[in-house]
Amino acid sequence: MVVGIDLGTTFSAVARINPQTGLPEIIPNSEGSKITPSIIQFAPGGLVFGSEAKDAFEVGEDNCITTFKRNMGMGKEYCTIDGKEYTAEELSALLLTHLKEDAEQVSGEKIEEAVITVPAYFYSKEREATIKSARRAGLKVRKIINEPTAAAIAYGLNHWRTNAKILVYDLGGGTCDVTLTAMKNESELNTLGTFGDHYLGGRDWDARLGDLLLKKIEAETGINPGEDRETKIIVTRLAENCKKQLSQKSPVKVPVSLPGFGQCTVEVTREEFDSLTADLIERTGILCKTVLDEVGFTWPDVTDILLVGGSTRMPQVSAYLQRISGKKPIAHVNPDEAVALGAAVQTQLKDPTYNTLAVVPKDAKKNKGPDNKLSVVSERRITQVGILTVNEVTTHAMGIIAVNEAGTEYINETIIPANYPIPVKSARAFNFYTRSNSDNELDIYVLQGDKKPLECAIPYKYVVTGIRHVKGGKTLIRIQYSYDQNAVIHVQARQEQDTKDLPIRIEPVPEDMSKYGRPIETEVFVPETLSILLAVDVSGSMSGDPLSDAQNAMCAFVDDIDISSAEIGIIAVSDRVELVYPLTDNAEKCKKAIRGITCGQTGYGNDTHPFKLIRKELGNRKGRRFAVILADGVWSNQDVAIRAAKECHKENIEIAAIGFGGADEDFLRNISSSDANALKVSQSELTKTFGSIAQSMGSGGGGNNARDRGSSGTETWEEEE
Ligand code: AMP
Repeated sequence: MVVGIDLGTTFSAVARINPQTGLPEIIPNSEGSKITPSIIQFAPGGLVFGSEAKDAFEVGEDNCITTFKRNMGMGKEYCTIDGKEYTAEELSALLLTHLKEDAEQVSGEKIEEAVITVPAYFYSKEREATIKSARRAGLKVRKIINEPTAAAIAYGLNHWRTNAKILVYDLGGGTCDVTLTAMKNESELNTLGTFGDHYLGGRDWDARLGDLLLKKIEAETGINPGEDRETKIIVTRLAENCKKQLSQKSPVKVPVSLPGFGQCTVEVTREEFDSLTADLIERTGILCKTVLDEVGFTWPDVTDILLVGGSTRMPQVSAYLQRISGKKPIAHVNPDEAVALGAAVQTQLKDPTYNTLAVVPKDAKKNKGPDNKLSVVSERRITQVGILTVNEVTTHAMGIIAVNEAGTEYINETIIPANYPIPVKSARAFNFYTRSNSDNELDIYVLQGDKKPLECAIPYKYVVTGIRHVKGGKTLIRIQYSYDQNAVIHVQARQEQDTKDLPIRIEPVPEDMSKYGRPIETEVFVPETLSILLAVDVSGSMSGDPLSDAQNAMCAFVDDIDISSAEIGIIAVSDRVELVYPLTDNAEKCKKAIRGITCGQTGYGNDTHPFKLIRKELGNRKGRRFAVILADGVWSNQDVAIRAAKECHKENIEIAAIGFGGADEDFLRNISSSDANALKVSQSELTKTFGSIAQSMGSGGGGNNARDRGSSGTETWEEEE
């Protein structure tokens, strides 16, 4: 038997398709109840579920655990019992095991597979956690579906009208979701769009009413009840109770008894409550408007408004929706059962893996408007799902943290827009800069939502590894996101036009992501072409070892430089100056020229300087321009040389001066473009010194994020077997 399971925050329910009637029905639990509290008690004799656990919880017994669903996918422990830590995922697995075994006992049939519902706002990680919990409970997940969609399915069973457009308004304890679905023909239900606020729910109404109660208590008794924790807990509980009663009658009398405070009774009317919370209900109206706008509808296009979630029992909800829509909302679906019944219908799904994915068109606008959203529908294979085909959409946009084109800030580059039919895949190409002699890795921070990076959920960090260094350092990485039919995300990456995926490592998202909210200063590495001239003093004092040591150091330097993005030229200087070899990217020719230098080849004195020639050779080069001067003595016309060197500095030609032997340190500093570039060393340190200069030229700081190319997309590819 395959079942549908509504794994709720406070209650859960299990349903199946009755083999005789072909209709969905709830499998009651072994206590005869259609719903089971989502509460687990860790009692000395073992785990306790059902009404016994609920009773224990209500009288405040120890080790009763509930509402863990809110922490799904967080990875952290939710509670510690007898020294053992439990995550929400593990607790859900325990509850699912109980629901499965109980339903098996009642039905007398073995259950191996299930369709499980999750809130529309659940992110990929929470959905994945739900799938894992089911696996731990010995259940194969046929599909994960959204609760509002399941509710619409259940409603549709009895109220099917071709072309009906149903707005599912789901206001629970902590969240509000609005989903628009359409009945297309006899057997196809399409989710067109969904939008939600995950910080708006019954709890906000409770908080407002709690404040009112406090004011009334003070007015009644003349004493301010204060703000301590215990008072707050009591008042919040009183407020929730009062709110529920206000759904039935008005006014409501609230008997208050606070610790160390005595007793009193205060009275609240529905009008008071409604006016106090008018702005909250209006916020839900904005959500409705957003969904309608997204799919290009207005209220007259909506044929049915379906109310789901405990907070829709507040009379203000129906009244408000009727006022803004002109339609009377429908509340007769039993929300406790509807979701499980809808899930049961989906168990008829024969082939949960779709053959054809929707593909976000390559030329889709970055922030898609209603037009291109629906353009993909024809590419989608309509999969027959028993009596009902259900097509869902992405509930969140999926993006990546990238660097903007100007390189000044981090942006959220959307890869899959919100409200696209799923399953779907989309790829975009980004620039990435590689370095030689280093692991080239690209960080992918997946963003859910289409706001700025830090305003989105960041559920995953992937590190793309094995990126090859390319000549020039600039490569293209194609990143593909796909949402499977459970709205779980998959990430792949390829370099250039490769046909193989790059290896991807998963890492935890760092706690501190604040840098992605700040402007980028210098940390993003962009390799530039590097033009380097090595000017070596060949005056008489260099004769013998000094010159041969210098030649060895310079050759090692050539080897250290990433010649794929650099050119190196050689200058000899003493009484005259000579370009021994012009800028080249041929390392071998360059080293040959270095070895060919002889002492005195431009005279044995130090009459001149190389800076004029350096400016001439580097003047029209793009990118970073560098000259390294190697001298072992004091030059004859130091003032002239310094003035000429300053001309280089003005033109942003960087000068490093290495001196050994009798070199004058002040002179080295004066010709260098910074003090750090003036290096007085011993002859034996030459190779090391050249090496450190080579290294400093290669490093531009960290920052391995993708860079936006301002392009719209790229071809998608198949998942590898
Ligand atoms: P749900 O998450 O759908 O179970 O909804 C839970 C929320 O519904 C909580 O904030 C409850 O206070 C609220 N709720 C339940 N029953 C009522 C009622 N009769 N009137 C108003 N709110 C209710």
